[in-house]
Amino acid sequence: MQVLLANEYGFCFGVERAVDMVEEALGEGDTVRSLGPLIHNEQEMERLGKYGVTTISEPVQIKRGETAVIRAHGVTPQVQQELEAKASKVVDATCPFVTRVQRLASRAAAADRHVVIVGSPDHPEMIGVKGYAPDHAFIIRDETEIDQLPRLKNPLVVSQTTIKLKTFFDTAEAVKNKTDDSVEIVNTICSATKDRQESARALSGMVDAFYVIGGRHSSNSVKLLGVCKENCEKSFLIETENEIDADDLKGVKTVGVTAGASTPEWLIQNVVKYLESIG
Ligand code: SF4
Repeated sequence: MQVLLANEYGFCFGVERAVDMVEEALGEGDTVRSLGPLIHNEQEMERLGKYGVTTISEPVQIKRGETAVIRAHGVTPQVQQELEAKASKVVDATCPFVTRVQRLASRAAAADRHVVIVGSPDHPEMIGVKGYAPDHAFIIRDETEIDQLPRLKNPLVVSQTTIKLKTFFDTAEAVKNKTDDSVEIVNTICSATKDRQESARALSGMVDAFYVIGGRHSSNSVKLLGVCKENCEKSFLIETENEIDADDLKGVKTVGVTAGASTPEWLIQNVVKYLESIG
């Protein structure tokens, strides 16, 4: 049985960077505490947990002598200040693509402009970005929520990094009806999700079975599974190689493998090695 990996799979740039930064802090002997789960992958969290990485839900839980980690989603400036006041060290692993959105929002607010952010209001990344323009920013999911907005002053429209391009541009277009001023539209969508989906789609037409490795609660992994199923009926979402049922591979000559943006390389290689061993 031939095992083929999708061209783009696994850790995105921001998640890989965050994990590297945590490992560096561990290497310096720090007691590392992440505000919120560093990554949405149970197995990787377990691995990091063995090195002493723990998760806190509020800055108040951090103690002097400990290192606080801001994960790739970023936080509000207020939360960052709280962490800096309590922790001995703060490792800011905010993804640079998210930092860019935060800066755009902050600059627009400083110029007394409104900011419309297209995304999920309860997503941590969105809560963080809004914190950079608290009195000037509005978060809406899509153009159906446009009526929630007041009349806008010189609005800037930006997006959550993981939303669909069409949702963003349709909403940005609708914002034009909410102002007499010109609208600045800055596409801040990151291509990691789309790249993984396109690579999986391309490979799924060439294989007899497909394994997507990722958490069952990871939305980008579930979406990857949907993409694979379009072309390959025998597509499965698994968290580890232990979930592979050899019966599913009867008569299979070529198997595709991809992984969500929070799935570490070691877990992917375990699956590839297992598939090669039973082929
Ligand atoms: S999905 Fe994109 S924006 Fe989000 S952490 Fe990964 S690289 Fe950064």
